[in-house]
Amino acid sequence: MTFTTPAWGARTADTPLEPITIQRREALATDVRIKVEYCGICHSDVHTARDEWDGTAYPCVPGHEVLGIAVAVGPEVTKFKAGDRVGIGCLVSSCGACDACEAGLEQYCETGWTGTYNSSDPYGTDSHTHGGYSGEIVVDERFVLRIPDGLDPAAAAPILCAGITLYSPLKHLAVGPGSKIAILGFGGLGAMGVKLAKALGAEVTVITRTEVKAADALKAGADHVLVSSDAAQMNTAERGFEAIFSTIPRTHDMAPYLQLLKNDGCYVILGAVEPMQTPFHGATLMGRRISIVGSLIGGIPETQEVLDFCAEHGIASDVQVVGVDGINAAYDHIAAGDPGFRYVIDMSTI
Ligand SMILES: [Zn+2]
Ligand SMILES: [Zn+2]
Repeated sequence: MTFTTPAWGARTADTPLEPITIQRREALATDVRIKVEYCGICHSDVHTARDEWDGTAYPCVPGHEVLGIAVAVGPEVTKFKAGDRVGIGCLVSSCGACDACEAGLEQYCETGWTGTYNSSDPYGTDSHTHGGYSGEIVVDERFVLRIPDGLDPAAAAPILCAGITLYSPLKHLAVGPGSKIAILGFGGLGAMGVKLAKALGAEVTVITRTEVKAADALKAGADHVLVSSDAAQMNTAERGFEAIFSTIPRTHDMAPYLQLLKNDGCYVILGAVEPMQTPFHGATLMGRRISIVGSLIGGIPETQEVLDFCAEHGIASDVQVVGVDGINAAYDHIAAGDPGFRYVIDMSTI
């Protein structure tokens, strides 16, 4: 049993997003049916709609920072009721049985997880899943997040991807009071990273290419900035970071940044879903026991944790709310270089 809901999606890699109609399943026993209020625009949405990572199934309805109101729940749902404000992040299904799933790390599910959009649809409603640029979405309660009171709904949406993408590795590396870390790149991810790392007690440097973004980063609460296009600044910078969180959404040369890590420092790749082609010297890693690691979003328990953490610490994303007719212009702006705020779509305009 299915129903139709309006959506905005791309029909091909080369055409702008436009209104389309999609099918959703009627709520099954453990499902929550959600009326979408807001959906953040993530750089991943742009990459996928434009098939920049290959493998996009069309029509493509992006959106994995989904915030809305539960309008109906299945008879076996225990955690939510109609009227609750809820969120959906990047995941809508996983095997539930492997070690990763049992540890609440569904993003590392050993048999592969189901993305909110552009994944094969395990329910068979359509060939592939469709995201939050839509009127309604239906998701198993295991993947539904509770939005704490006190979070502004539009500003909370980006926590569901941008927020958890930074929070998970910050926690994994035990960043806290006394930590000196750097956030590389000051787009939607970087801006959330500054707020979260500051709230955890760290001393935070933002590394960015432009003076304009450097000024924005200071305004957002960064303790220091380093302008990477300024060779003098880069050459004289201290080797002082215990971790650098790279939010750069493309392949990039890591070598200049590896130089800034202290002994046992860690370079964390968060945004570049591309082959890395850094000609770094083995001695750079060996000489200071440096590691290069990756981290992918976060599991459901930790996503709930970051939502609660943000509510407790008064953290919200800086957002610019647009109507559905503003999606394509926002895409062009993001593709030209992530702004230090998040575009969020007001889905009541659909
Ligand atoms: Zn995302
Ligand atoms: Zn699993």
